[in-house]
Amino acid sequence: MKNKFSYTKKNRYKILTIFVILMIVVGILLSDRIIELQESYVERQLAQQTQIMAELVQERLGAELSSMNLAARLIESGAVQEVRKMEGAGVLDGLMALDGTAIYGEVLDFSIYEGIRESFRGNEAVSCDEEGNIVFSVPVFRGDNVKYVLYRKYTKNQLEQFFWLGGGDAKGKFLVASGRQILFADAHWTPEDIAMLQDRGVLETYEEIHKKLSISLSAAEKGKFFGESSYFFAAQISKKGLYLIGLVPKKQMEAGISYIVMMVVFVLGLLILLFAIGVRYLFSAEEKLRESEELRKAKLAAENANRAKSDFLANMSHEIRTPINSVIGMNEMVLRETKESNIREYAKNIEYASKSLLSLINDILDFSKIESGKMEIVKGEYELSSFLMNIVSMAQVRAEVKKLKFCTEIDENLPVMLYGDEVRVRQVIENMLSNAVKYTGAGCVTLAVSSLVEDGFSLKISVRDTGIGIQREDLEKLFKDFERLDLHRNRSVQGTGLGLAITKRLTEQMGGKISVESVYGEGSCFTVVIPQQVRDAHAIGDFRETYHKYLAEETREKESFTAPGAKVLVVDDNTMNLLVAEKLLARTKVQVTTCQSGRECLDWMRREYFDVILLDHMMPEMDGMETLAKSKELEGNRCVNTPVIALTANAVQGAREEYIRAGFHDYLSKPIEPKRLEEMLQKYISQKK
Ligand code: ADP
Repeated sequence: MKNKFSYTKKNRYKILTIFVILMIVVGILLSDRIIELQESYVERQLAQQTQIMAELVQERLGAELSSMNLAARLIESGAVQEVRKMEGAGVLDGLMALDGTAIYGEVLDFSIYEGIRESFRGNEAVSCDEEGNIVFSVPVFRGDNVKYVLYRKYTKNQLEQFFWLGGGDAKGKFLVASGRQILFADAHWTPEDIAMLQDRGVLETYEEIHKKLSISLSAAEKGKFFGESSYFFAAQISKKGLYLIGLVPKKQMEAGISYIVMMVVFVLGLLILLFAIGVRYLFSAEEKLRESEELRKAKLAAENANRAKSDFLANMSHEIRTPINSVIGMNEMVLRETKESNIREYAKNIEYASKSLLSLINDILDFSKIESGKMEIVKGEYELSSFLMNIVSMAQVRAEVKKLKFCTEIDENLPVMLYGDEVRVRQVIENMLSNAVKYTGAGCVTLAVSSLVEDGFSLKISVRDTGIGIQREDLEKLFKDFERLDLHRNRSVQGTGLGLAITKRLTEQMGGKISVESVYGEGSCFTVVIPQQVRDAHAIGDFRETYHKYLAEETREKESFTAPGAKVLVVDDNTMNLLVAEKLLARTKVQVTTCQSGRECLDWMRREYFDVILLDHMMPEMDGMETLAKSKELEGNRCVNTPVIALTANAVQGAREEYIRAGFHDYLSKPIEPKRLEEMLQKYISQKK
């Protein structure tokens, strides 16, 4: 899959590269086209500029000639002297007769100034000499014949003002020509430049321009001038064959062009870059999508595997509880009946080992329930004093075994009745207490319970010990799953590293917090704060006093409970379990009947009355639930009002509620604790018996 993936990835990069190359080629072609367009644009612009300038020259010429025509008309009417006075303001002028003499002004040589001759033919004319002086001439008529020619002569310097070329923003150098004769060239032209105009290449370019001029008023063309690319341009000035001609080196225009080309390349480059980024983004988005899909699948697979593991653990531990039940029960029998001290010792060891195994199984069961999210918090009302007394009595026994002092600091203002998950709060406290006892060699273990009122009521429970303590660096690992600390020192202490992980998760599931303080070598203090609701706020009072009373009562009850008149039916498909139950009940002297299936149970119910029925849940063919349901509709059932107690290895939290909902009166978890069994019978068998 990976190979296929990287293969397609490689392919895509190939496509991307080809695309980018294609874009670059298109870019280059486009930039050539753009240069072409730009050049034709420049030509058009220059042609336009030339035309405007030609119009300007034309206007000047027109104005000059029309003022001269006006003067000619005056002379025709005999006002020669007035004209003489009007003229001569800086400009050389004169009136020539056909015989070559001057009526006034200087005599001009007809052979130099062709225009004079032209004017004697009756036309306006412009001509120049080799020094660059220009002569404008108009005819003066007498009747239909030309009598004189009126002329005005401009020197080279005066011409500059007259034509006013090259002013403003006009680009390049200009000249005015009549055919091949240059009438005027602006100051930018050198004599070499003028000479160069006769070059063949230049003349060819000029020919091209000339062709264009036959269809338009102005034109421009690219050509070579002194080997350098230049633009030539020209425009007709008048019908008299005058032209305005100009020249601008391409380089001068290039600055603008190259800037535009640069812009185009830049924009294209930017487009290519954007395109590449876009494609890359698309690829990576697709990749991410695929990866997240793979991740999702992997997560699903991991979750499934985890669920399978949790289910397996739950089932396994459930299955293991049943044989342990038998071992503990049988061992209890041995302990009760043997008088031999070495056998008692063996049995005590078996009891210790199997109880450890049981607590381990319970931990794994709890852990897998939490992991699979099946651990529910089931709330109910509970009486705080008896709740604490239960815990204290058990902890005291454990502490005594290790010759530790067990102390309590129970706040007497704590409320009498609380609402919360009693079973899980107990589990949390018992875990802390059992660790404290486990990791303390000498000294004392203290249970302190008080209240904390902050956004509602919370129980604050601290367990202090004078044990081995925890190293600072180990504190953060403390609540991790399967994590055991200081293995070197704790090698001989049994444990799985699950206790605190479960404690933490349970506490948090109940909305509480756990914390720890510890000094290595001196002891530790674990504290949990668990929110609970208060149902009866009366103070519990002096706990120690209540506890002592409870202990005294318990001993009395324990000694006195026997019920020889009571009948108990025990139903379990496992003969070993039946034997255990029978033996455990022997001390109470109740009459025990046993059977191995639901059907047999129903038979017995029809046959006889029982004070209590202990009914196993998991049985082949007809399980406990079904048997109970059938018993409700059973004809001739003598045990209609008999309390039926569920007997099961199903120790999952919430099981009790489930059994009670199904119609059972109560629930006993296997392995059966002798004390709990006796308490249960005492509760349901009438006092009289
Ligand atoms: P275990 O089954 O090993 O007791 P826990 O999760 O209950 O697992 O505890 C994890 C580790 O935390 C223990 O192995 C021990 O090293 C340390 N620990 C827990 N409680 C105490 C305590 N009261 N004093 C010192 N160390 C403790």
